[in-house]
Amino acid sequence: MARRNWLALAAVLVLSSCTRLTPEQQLLADAAKALGGADRVRAVRTLSLEGDGRNFNLGQDMRPEAASQTFTVSGYRRLVDMGSGRVKVEQTRTPNFAYFQGPQAQRQIAGIDGDIAYNVGANGAPGRVGALVAQERKTDYFHHPLTIVRAALDPVTALSNMRTTGSERLIDVGTSSGQTVTLAIDAAGLPTRTSSQSYNANLGDVTLTTTFSDYQDVAGLKLPAHITTKVDDFTTADLRMIRQAVDGEIGDVAAPPAAASAPAPAPPTPTVTADSVAPGVWFLAGQSHNSVLVEFADHLTLIEAPLSEPRTLAVIAKARELNPGKPLTQVVMTHHHFDHTAGLRAAISEGLTVITQSGNKAFVETMASRSHSRQPDALTRNARPATVEVVDDDRVLKDSTMEMDLYHVNGSPHSDTMLMAYIPKARALVEVDVFSPGAAVQPYAANLIENLAARKLRVDRIVPLHGAIVPFSELTKTQASTKAN
Ligand SMILES: [Zn+2]
Ligand SMILES: [Zn+2]
Repeated sequence: MARRNWLALAAVLVLSSCTRLTPEQQLLADAAKALGGADRVRAVRTLSLEGDGRNFNLGQDMRPEAASQTFTVSGYRRLVDMGSGRVKVEQTRTPNFAYFQGPQAQRQIAGIDGDIAYNVGANGAPGRVGALVAQERKTDYFHHPLTIVRAALDPVTALSNMRTTGSERLIDVGTSSGQTVTLAIDAAGLPTRTSSQSYNANLGDVTLTTTFSDYQDVAGLKLPAHITTKVDDFTTADLRMIRQAVDGEIGDVAAPPAAASAPAPAPPTPTVTADSVAPGVWFLAGQSHNSVLVEFADHLTLIEAPLSEPRTLAVIAKARELNPGKPLTQVVMTHHHFDHTAGLRAAISEGLTVITQSGNKAFVETMASRSHSRQPDALTRNARPATVEVVDDDRVLKDSTMEMDLYHVNGSPHSDTMLMAYIPKARALVEVDVFSPGAAVQPYAANLIENLAARKLRVDRIVPLHGAIVPFSELTKTQASTKAN
């Protein structure tokens, strides 16, 4: 073939390959170009981000709908090794509210290395964390413009579902490691956000979104200096990068050997112990979160469906085993915090009516109606709406054999919508989080004492939903020592 024919053929091939770009490929080409060019993006070996900002308190704030509690984040560092996909994130967070662990700053280190997800505790000891967290962190690796566009440029990556929203274009990026992450770019081609689907035991199916803005020039690339993360519509972090570096020295970001050699922790098999508190009252313990069972003349009432579906189903089974002749019909939910409500959907699936403070009603109804398609749970298999009865300030549950009084814990700095239960014939107070026997700090105990005084309750024993049953003097002692300090 003559030389000019070769050139003509080459021209045709270039032309046809240009015209054959799919909308997905065009989007990717535009994104790569905006970030600094495909070759520059492909060449990056490491990324180091340093900054500060805020974390929010999803599932642990004052009210179910609140986003008022924040931690100030300082010393944020995200170190990414592009070749291995290893990521290590370090930060110091300081609560701006009455935190149950006290007001001091906490250093946090979290990482992912292959299938090994790990955290390093405040004492410096690394620990491996479970497979679900590992999966989430492996996907989170792609929640940055550089990592997602670099992955998308890999020919084995599947690009699909191009769509347009306003001036933005979006595609789904199916990575070779099995993650699917949606990438959105603006009219200039710069990534505005990434999102992926995940699962939360309380919320069910959720969308995790990371947004990018304030792009800066860094070593021939454009990198966002403002990054926020969300779970559905709830902002979980808002961070500003002070220093960004590409291909700098990031040190060792491999999983610490103690975490790498440990097996992935599996969820514990529920252990439910039952101890009699008084006739017709049982303390159901055995793990970190307790429940209490109360026997009325013709039915049983449970206090708290915590921790997980397996835990709550085991607690319900124990309640029925203790009293096979009476139906378990109600569960009292003390407050909305996710660890104390992670079994609530299971309780609803078992037909239990939920009794809670009126500020939690919408939360319970929404929780019961959310989709859990990614990990179908008991309520997905046995769908039914929640039946919710509310307590505003106080409510007496009473029949011929039992009385239990439910009270709103007014003004608690732990939660605005907190209930406690008082069983007069046992002079027993059932409470959670506002006093935890044995805990080093008790930031909510003074308010509890005020509530007990205002209600004129005569308490002999505290039956806590964290820790062991203690005499009332343990609570007053705590306050005496707080004053002494
Ligand atoms: Zn709580
Ligand atoms: Zn708690």
